[in-house]
Amino acid sequence: MNRRIWLSEPYQNGKEMEYINRALEKNEITQFGDNLEEFHRRTSEYVNNLPCLHVNSATAGLHLILRYLGIGAGDYVLCSTLTFAASCNPALYLGANVIFVDSDEKSYNMSPIALKKAISWAKKQNYRIKAAIIVDIYGQPAEYDEILPILQEENIPTVEDAAEAQGSFYKGKKCGTLCDFAVFSYDSNKMITTSGGGTIIAKEQKAIDKMRYWAMQAREPLPYYQHFEYGYQYRMSNILAGIGCAQMQSLDTILAKKQKINERYKESLKNYPVKFMPEIEGCSSNKWLTVMNFLHYGMAEVLGLIDFLEKNNVEARMCWKPMHLQPLYKESPYVKEGEKDVAKTLFESGVCLPSAVKMSVEEQDYVIQLIKNYMDNKKYERKTDDYHLRK
Ligand SMILES: *Cc1c(COP(=O)(O)O)cnc(C)c1O
Repeated sequence: MNRRIWLSEPYQNGKEMEYINRALEKNEITQFGDNLEEFHRRTSEYVNNLPCLHVNSATAGLHLILRYLGIGAGDYVLCSTLTFAASCNPALYLGANVIFVDSDEKSYNMSPIALKKAISWAKKQNYRIKAAIIVDIYGQPAEYDEILPILQEENIPTVEDAAEAQGSFYKGKKCGTLCDFAVFSYDSNKMITTSGGGTIIAKEQKAIDKMRYWAMQAREPLPYYQHFEYGYQYRMSNILAGIGCAQMQSLDTILAKKQKINERYKESLKNYPVKFMPEIEGCSSNKWLTVMNFLHYGMAEVLGLIDFLEKNNVEARMCWKPMHLQPLYKESPYVKEGEKDVAKTLFESGVCLPSAVKMSVEEQDYVIQLIKNYMDNKKYERKTDDYHLRK
């Protein structure tokens, strides 16, 4: 292969430039303008007219949501452990603590059983839990029918980190609309991209209005600069919103292509000792990245495969390293269903395979053949490896 095969890369439909030109022609090199308005209209339509706000990253969106929920020093936030640090870091920005919840083997997402345990444990410690951040990892929706009643009973506000999950459905409902609040991300490797950006989705307009105020430096509508509160510069650029307008028109194409990529991997590798991230019943995952887990082997095999693909100019990556294994969060409580550490096992046995929409069928077959060669030629021995525990 001449071309490098990427894990994920932006896909363009050709309309991006028209929107960028529109901004330039109108001199709207700004943080307001036609592109932002159109992107807002398209996004609102997508989320069934729920109130929403574009910001310059999903991380900024989560920060605003947690602040809106009144989270501050000494408070606690529940969060899925199998995720990217951006899901929970905003709790730290506000001086709060995080309690991590293990994954469920069925969904790879937050386990309802571990969640229940975490809440009763935290109550015994007299910890104030102010929010739960539920992640739809790799585009797979979490088990909301089981998770939400547990949180609602305790009056804990819910936040859906749907950064990876635009286009996914949970029992007929779109990811991004399942909790009190949600975020999408438009980072360059997400389902659609603006090169960087995000959306906050809420159930009430007044929440969005407050978050917009903070995202614009908390400026008062006065002839002079007056501040009662501190804010942030979290706005999205009108140029980037133009890329978003074009990208929104390709969401269905991207979804169909990701689905095909996922099916091809599953079908081609079905006789190998691997499993693929399961899809929970009645739901449809956007297959943002295809995740493959070795059934019997350890991290040596995972790293070996990634190295082998890299030598052949193919990018694959390990799964998210769970937050409870991060040196940054070593003091944070972590609750599992029982003895088994599901998220740790998923991490140590998992590989994210190239899932870029621009990858051709021939390129994917090339990747599949490499994976087969690696597995056919390697004599596996179960090894333990403390690689991830090294500083
Ligand atoms: C990408 C990602 C984020 C952060 O998105 P940004 O737009 O880059 O801030 C948050 N959570 C998860 C699960 C992600 O994958």
